[in-house]
Order: sequence, then C-alpha cells, then structure tokens
Amino acid sequence: MVVIFDGVLDEARKQAVLRELGKQGMLVHWVDSPQGSIMVSEREVSAQVLEAFGKIARVIKPSTPFQLAHRSFNPDGTVITIGDVEIGQETLTIIAGPCAVESEEQLFRIAEAVKSMGAHILRGGAFKPRTSPYSFQGLGEQGLEILAKAREKFSIPVVTEATSPENAVLVAQYADIIQIGARNMQNFELLKKVAILGKPVLLKRGLSATIEDWLLAAEYILSLGNFQVILCERGIRTIERFTRNTLDLNAIPVVKDLSHLPVFVDPSHGTGLREKVIPMALAGVSCGADGVMVEVHHAPEQALSDGPQSLYPEQFRRLVNNLQVISVIVGKELNKEKSPAGASPAFVSKSFPQFKVAFLGEKGSFSSQVAQKAFPRDSQFISCYTFREVFEKVASGEATHGVVPIENTITGSIHANYDLLLDFPEIFVVGERFIKVSQHLGVYPGTGVGDIQFLFAHPQAFSQCSRFLESLKGVKIIDVGNTEEAARKASEFGKGSACISSEEAIRKHGLELLEEDVEDTPCNFTRFLILSRYFEPRKEHDKVSCVFRIPNRSGALFEVLEVFYARSINLIKLESRPIPGEPWEYLFYVDWEGNLIDTKFGEALEELKKKTTFLRILGSYNNRWKLLKKN
Ligand code: PEP
Ligand code: MN
Repeated sequence: MVVIFDGVLDEARKQAVLRELGKQGMLVHWVDSPQGSIMVSEREVSAQVLEAFGKIARVIKPSTPFQLAHRSFNPDGTVITIGDVEIGQETLTIIAGPCAVESEEQLFRIAEAVKSMGAHILRGGAFKPRTSPYSFQGLGEQGLEILAKAREKFSIPVVTEATSPENAVLVAQYADIIQIGARNMQNFELLKKVAILGKPVLLKRGLSATIEDWLLAAEYILSLGNFQVILCERGIRTIERFTRNTLDLNAIPVVKDLSHLPVFVDPSHGTGLREKVIPMALAGVSCGADGVMVEVHHAPEQALSDGPQSLYPEQFRRLVNNLQVISVIVGKELNKEKSPAGASPAFVSKSFPQFKVAFLGEKGSFSSQVAQKAFPRDSQFISCYTFREVFEKVASGEATHGVVPIENTITGSIHANYDLLLDFPEIFVVGERFIKVSQHLGVYPGTGVGDIQFLFAHPQAFSQCSRFLESLKGVKIIDVGNTEEAARKASEFGKGSACISSEEAIRKHGLELLEEDVEDTPCNFTRFLILSRYFEPRKEHDKVSCVFRIPNRSGALFEVLEVFYARSINLIKLESRPIPGEPWEYLFYVDWEGNLIDTKFGEALEELKKKTTFLRILGSYNNRWKLLKKN
C-alpha cells in the first residue's frame, strides 16, 4: 500500500507513524519526494489511522509486491529528461555506441557516426563485467574520461555501466545515465548506491530474472527516492542456443501494463548476432518499447568486446530509417523539435527561448497530438479555432511555430492550408510530421449503434470513414471544426449522439468507445507541416517545398520539370491549385529532394526563376518518411 501525503512530513511525525504502526507489528518505509512524503507498507493500513498524522493526497493499493514501480503510482507514465532528450510516454529514444570504450579515437569515430545518423544517447562501457577473467575488462576511469570528452565534443548524453558501489560513485561523476548490467540486477548494495547518487538509472533485466524480480530491483531504486529508472529488456537464458539469449518480447507489453517506467529493448545482447539486431529492434518497438539500445562499431571484427553483435554504422543508419517509419505507426516521436528543421542551437536560443506552438482544436485533436509529440514538454501550446488563426499567431509572433495538416493518404490535400501558405509570405515550412490516423466511433454512454440520431465529425473524418457511414442508416450527420470538438459536442448533446473522433478525445469527454478503426483503410496517414517565421536553411535538409506560376503556353510546365530532370533532382510531390480571382489559372506546389545550400540546387532555382512568372521558396526541412531501402 502506498500513501502519498500532501506535503513533506517532518521526522517527528514519521517516527510517530512508525511507532503507531509498529504496535500492530507492521513495517513501513518512508520515501521523500518533492511533492510530499510517501509511505509504503507491505500490508494494508487504515487510512483513518494515518489521517491523524497529516493530510493525505492519494492512496494506492497495487496488487503486486512492487508498489512504487506499479503503473497506478503514475498512470500517465514516467518521463525522464536528460538535457534535450526526453525518455518515455510518446517519445522513442535511441541509445547507440560500442560495447566498450577502447580508445579516444575509437569512441569519437563511432560517436560522430551514430550522432549524425540519429542516436540520442551514446553508450560505451568503461567497467566491463566479462564472463571470462581473461577478456578485456574495460579502460576504467580512463574510459570514463573519454566518454566525458565525447559528450562535450558531440553534444550527446552518455550512458555507461557501474559494476560496484565503489565505481558507481566515479561513474556518476561522468555519466548522464548509470547502467546496471544484467549480471548486477540483483546486486542490492549497488542498487541502493545508484539510487542515492541521484542520476537516472538504466536497469537491465537479469539473465534469469522474472519480470517480478526485475520490477522489485527497480523498486529498490525508487524506494530511496530516485524515480528516474529506465528498464531494459536484453534477453534471458532459455534452452535455445542458436542465439546468445532469447529476447523476451512478451516482457515489453507486460511491463508497460504493470509499470509506469519507460522500457527499452537491447537486441544486441538479446540475439548476439549482428544480422538479427535490426528485425528484433523493430519488433521491440512494435511491441511498445520506449527506446532501443544497440551496439555499433566501425570495425566490429577488431572490437575488444561483443564484435559479432555490433552493427556497422551503415546498418545503424538503416535501423534509424526503419524506426522512423515504425514510430509513426506506434504513435511515438523519434525526434522532438529541439532545434526545428535542424537549425543550429545558437540560432534556436537566440530566436526563441521557449517554443510556443499554435494548432487547430483543443487537446485531443490530431493537430494537438502532433504538436505535443513534436515539441518539448515545457513548450506553450496554443489552441486555435481556424487554420487562419494558426497562421496569424505565427505571423504576429504570438506563436513561434504552427502545426497544420497538409495532406491525407485517403482524402488528399488540405487545400485551405496550401492557400494560406501563399497568404502569409513571412511564414516558412521548417519541418514535417506524419501521424497514423485512427478514427473511432464514440457514443454518449448507453447509446447503441441502432440508437444513434446525431453524428458529429470533422468533414475529413467523414471522408475517411465513408464506407462505415453508409452502414449507418437514418443518422443526421453534423460537421464540426475538428476531431476534439466532435467528441465534445456528442457529450453535450446527450443520449442518441455519437462522434467520429480520436481515442484520446473520446475518453477525454467521457464517451463510450463503441467501434474502433472505422476508417475505410488502415493505411490512413496525415502529413502535417511545422511552420515558423524563423527559418535557417541547412545543408542537412533533404526536402524543399516551393510554389511557382508559369506562362499559359504550350510546353511551359515541361520546361520547368526539365530543370529538375537535367540535374537528377527527385520530385516528391506536384500539386496544382486554382488562383483565386483568376479563373483557369493555376499555381504549382512542388516538393523535391535537396536543400537550399548546395550549388547544384542553387543553380536549379536560378534556372527555375527564368522559366516561371512567380517563384517562392516555402521552406526546407528533413524528409520524415524516408522510404526503406531494399537491402
Ligand atoms: C552491455 O550493455 O554491454 C552489457 C554488458 O549488457 P548486459 O549487462 O545486458 O549483458
Ligand atoms: Mn556488450
């Protein structure tokens, strides 16, 4: 049983509780947290007895021996923040690096590669717990110094293992996250030590540990007031010998249900085989993992430890590309917009100390989900009634960024936003995001499918679910401005009303989720643009958007397309829009692969200017849907 007091109790009161409950033969444990004192006991205590000692904020009674690690302690899920990196909830985080730090040259080389390819955190062991005493044991403190240098040089947090209470103190001086290895998962003295060192802890699952053992090991750390624990499934011992271990994928959804702590998957140790790492990493993320940890080495054949399971940097790149696609489907964000569109950190801090993000609808709308996923938690989120209002807020500076949908895989382009891009020439496209859209039927509690009289939805949702709607006879369909509003209206109208909306909005408004995934096809994705007045073209960008107009004569469009063809520039999208007030005249919107820095693209733009009567660059950014390479 966990009792959370409203505020911190002084020592005298805690002692009094101990004495009182001691009379009943009960052991209680106190944990200090900034929100208030927490009392944990194995057996249930009457809340009435405790109320005499202080105001109680919350009581939870997990049915498991782990109590603070139980999901009910933090139902939304724990988020751990390390500098710019957020771990947990809707974020997907990648930890990569060598098994062991071997030299400065080796670590720098790997750090540079993995960071540029998308790793958020660098790994590397300095104290290595090796099965054989004759194997490389790690560089010790020298390895920690190299890690610290790599952290500075490449601006990336580092995780490294502590193997004893003594070296944990040293590791804490260098590492951003302290790793507890599989072999030490039940080294309780070590767990207690890292708990009080106060750094985030990555707790690997023991080779033969049950899920309960593992969560109780986490409980040791939480019980000393350190709530920053990340769990890592790294394979367990089974009868199977073709792979080094058996990656227990079952454990991921099981632990995600049981606990609020973020769960990572380590397919390198889980399989021991380089070629099996990518599929198992993808499987782990599909099962709900909050991150992956993989070993990468530029020359695995020469690695001093775990070479056979280390990815080549090029394989790591492929893994990241694959994760990018899967992240959309599992609804997690691989890259928070910490420096939008790859702008330099100096540019970011100069331009906007805090993100202020405008989007359509309230919390629960698809735009709000994108805004929340793409931007850090401490951003200010501004909800708007119309798309134009989003643009206005960005233009006036009230918002640093805006998020608007631009196209959907079932219903096509959202033309209103193409037109608004032209109305606001001071606004640039600085990024894009994709989300998998799932539409559900929500009803006022007690309403059956046959009793529905009114159905609220955004017109986009109606078009995405046209087949399902045909099956509902005699229902009055009412358009609303966004997904969240559909659920709100259904809840206000009462019995007989329903909505097509997101799961989040249906739950938020206390409706019943009657039918899930009612869209015409499960391949339902929406692309959103991230807008800002602050735009810094970067060489790393690989997608450019522009709009042009051409003279109305034969071959004019062909000549423009020839500019791209002649330079082997790949066009991603070409869309024409009528020009308001000029019947049968069109603007062309084009997205192409490239950036605004390289001369090749600069020359193409010069050439385009000559062949068009109007040309505007809408922005450059990173293509978030890199197609998977075949090999
Ligand atoms: C490691 O991460 O290099 C390691 C030793 O892992 P584990 O403790 O899971 O074997
Ligand atoms: Mn290893």
